[in-house]
Amino acid sequence: MMADTIWVWVELNQGKPFRGSLEVLSKAAQLGAAEAVVFGSGARAAAPTLGAYGASKVYVHDDAAYDDYMAMPAAATLGALIEQQRPALLLFATTYDGRDVAARLSPMLGSGLITDATDFSLNGGELRVSVPWGGENIVTATLVHNGTKLVLFRPKAFALEEHSGITPTVEEVQASIDPALLRARITRRVEQAAEGPGLEDAAIIVSGGRGLGKPENFSVVEALANVLGGAVGATRAVVDAGWVPYSYQVGQTGKTVKPTLYIAVGISGAIQHLAGMKGSKYIVAINRDENAPIFSAADLGVVGDALTIVPQLTEELKRRKAAGG
Ligand SMILES: Cc1cc2nc3c(=O)[nH]c(=O)nc-3n(C[C@H](O)[C@H](O)[C@H](O)COP(=O)(O)OP(=O)(O)OC[C@H]3O[C@@H](n4cnc5c(N)ncnc54)[C@H](O)[C@@H]3O)c2cc1C
Repeated sequence: MMADTIWVWVELNQGKPFRGSLEVLSKAAQLGAAEAVVFGSGARAAAPTLGAYGASKVYVHDDAAYDDYMAMPAAATLGALIEQQRPALLLFATTYDGRDVAARLSPMLGSGLITDATDFSLNGGELRVSVPWGGENIVTATLVHNGTKLVLFRPKAFALEEHSGITPTVEEVQASIDPALLRARITRRVEQAAEGPGLEDAAIIVSGGRGLGKPENFSVVEALANVLGGAVGATRAVVDAGWVPYSYQVGQTGKTVKPTLYIAVGISGAIQHLAGMKGSKYIVAINRDENAPIFSAADLGVVGDALTIVPQLTEELKRRKAAGG
């Protein structure tokens, strides 16, 4: 087994490498010899991009069968490749397919699988993986066998980092897909239309919590996000109450975000919410309770009624924008 060869399974999204996979690859390349594995139409063409994000070698199986039937054939091909090459680690971005493939591989290989991770390090072969758990504890995985260890990472766990000058070796995977594996397939893709930037990509996020009082008041958060050109987030309390869809939820069981500016409106700052947004560069909190825990995470705290402050702030920003400021 090569000690620190780290494989990253790269998912393609309409022929282009998925951003989350590139984030994981960027981190892997910092820690060891990073190699990428990519299947489906466009796999070969993706190799130079994967080199740019740190892959020294790219295993490709450019077969259209994966496009609609990803999980079962991908697990079979990956399993055979791992038996041959025995990398130390195989890392995935958390996506529906990533989870499906990793969950199938784990019993096939008898490998450990850690999900929902946000960071990892390798120390003399010991793998330390951070997993948010009731806030954030560090789970140390020391595996007792020499098999390939599997880890799934949350989106935005790592920054994208380009490496210049790497032209990866491309290795065509010699595999044929057993037709018996072409069973579970994607029959339809539905895109949810959304205005403005997505939460994971937004530089500015305005999030609302139960302090807004009732669902109609959530519009003050949306208006502020709109004038700032930002995305809208929420706490689990308001998602559970049905004010906004789950896709808005930031936190341990929601999305991990890393904007430049995070404005928390009427949010108490529970540890499970902090777990998803504390990596934001600047945090501004508006809360009427000066002892709210959110203020310990905030760079700027405003104590007061959000329903008075936020509309005034929005109006002032609109006025300045109109004046060209
Ligand atoms: C396993 C588990 C996973 C969880 N995952 C998540 C997660 O992913 N994301 C998440 O967000 N939570 C999560 N939670 C829930 C979390 O523990 C909190 O319950 C939740 O974050 C609280 O949401 P909140 O801040 O909107 O509401 P509250 O805690 O009720 O806070 C409301 C805040 O608004 C303030 N306020 C009230 N009125 C006003 C006003 N007029 N103006 C200004 N401020 C006002 C109050 O002072 C208070 O601080 C999880 C919990 C568990 C157990």
